[in-house]
Amino acid sequence: MSCMPCTTERVQVPVYYPTPSQTRLASQLTEEEQVRIAQRIGLIQHLPRGIFDPGSEPSDKKIKECVICMMDFEYGDPIRFLPCMHIYHMDCIDAWLMRSFTCPSCMEPVDAALLSSYETN
Ligand SMILES: [Zn+2]
Ligand SMILES: [Zn+2]
Repeated sequence: MSCMPCTTERVQVPVYYPTPSQTRLASQLTEEEQVRIAQRIGLIQHLPRGIFDPGSEPSDKKIKECVICMMDFEYGDPIRFLPCMHIYHMDCIDAWLMRSFTCPSCMEPVDAALLSSYETN
């Protein structure tokens, strides 16, 4: 699996808050918080992404719905793969990972898995 070059995705990044209860503007975040958010966005963008295609999924391990929005995947939906092999809508998991860097299905920490895979590669 290859890593897509980051330069191909220049997405408009909305203002994120360190926790949902905090309502400060991005400009009022401390430098440390801004760095952490930027690092998190960078990690999320390195997760493999794809297009949902029911035909390409192994039949014994079919994931049919996104547990974040509880909607069934449809052919052509943009999805993101986590290191634990769970898949979610890209919009759903990106927003989720900004709040919690764990898989919503199995609670496996996503950043630890990513960091260890970076070290071995
Ligand atoms: Zn979803
Ligand atoms: Zn998982």
